[in-house]
Amino acid sequence: MDANTRVFVAGGDTLIGAALLRQLDNRGFTNVVGRGEDEPDLRDAHAVETFFAETRPECVFLAAGRSGGIKCNQEHPAQLMLDNLLVQTNVVKAAHEAGVQDLLYLASSCSYPKHTEQPMRVESLFTDKLEPTNEAYATAKLAGLVLCQAYSREYGRRYLQCIPANAFGIEDDFTPEGGHVIPALFARMHAAKEEGADHIDIWGTGKPRREFLFADDIADACLFLVDNHSDATAPVNVGGGDDLSIAEVAEAIKMVVGFPGELRFDTSKPDGMPLKALESSQLLSLGWQPRTPFAVALSETYDSFLRHQNAPENQNAPQRAVV
Ligand code: GDP
Repeated sequence: MDANTRVFVAGGDTLIGAALLRQLDNRGFTNVVGRGEDEPDLRDAHAVETFFAETRPECVFLAAGRSGGIKCNQEHPAQLMLDNLLVQTNVVKAAHEAGVQDLLYLASSCSYPKHTEQPMRVESLFTDKLEPTNEAYATAKLAGLVLCQAYSREYGRRYLQCIPANAFGIEDDFTPEGGHVIPALFARMHAAKEEGADHIDIWGTGKPRREFLFADDIADACLFLVDNHSDATAPVNVGGGDDLSIAEVAEAIKMVVGFPGELRFDTSKPDGMPLKALESSQLLSLGWQPRTPFAVALSETYDSFLRHQNAPENQNAPQRAVV
């Protein structure tokens, strides 16, 4: 790709989609189509076909589809699954029909079996049962991954797939109901500090471990892969970030927010996967590395939360509710 390549980021309003748009802007890409209000409703097959026929992108990043944290997955499995199935099917089909040769699909680390070798290797996909709290969403993401492989095999397309580590960052979903652990804890701990609470409940035991990666670093890896990778027969793990327990994450967030109270663990809430870390040697050996230290990424995420909270139009509104 060069700065004149016509690029479409499907899902420009998602965490990683928005980070991809920032990265493209930083690199001076001048032909980014379908951003903001110009993005069609990706659940509408006809609108997506018309959009591709009119804009003829040369490269597509498929970062679309609703996602959410553990609570959202438990309460809205059908909505999450359907949204992802519709969106990815519409985009991949329309991209192919419009002659798009290069596409990168963002899958999810939820798609790995619940009990699998750690760090997780792409060879372990499809070898065992999924984590029940996110089975519906994860199955949709697996379908998208295989769809890209099938189009690549049948039509000679280069529809690459990657599996990012747990993403967090700027303009994350900071709603306690929808957000993943980092943005949700920023919102809840900030509120606890404002209210002068003496403690906050952290869901679960605090023992599960997650590998976290700043969304802007994931976007950087996506651009790197499109330029440096050609094998569409298997996904590439995008990791190399920090592997921390939820208790450690909660402590780090407490420091950034300056919440003086106690952290208590509410074991009536689910833990989800015991451990999620990615084996990312393939990507690292191609020469990519994450750039943003965890502490910096956390403080940029908190700044984003504060900016959003202080925006007059958002004084009483939740941020980017997921479903
Ligand atoms: P997961 O990685 O798909 O399991 O999704 P999450 O990021 O939502 O949750 C990761 C872990 O953080 C789980 O063990 C949650 O129980 C735990 N956790 C602790 N407090 C919170 C919270 O306020 N919100 C969320 N979403 N998870 C929390």
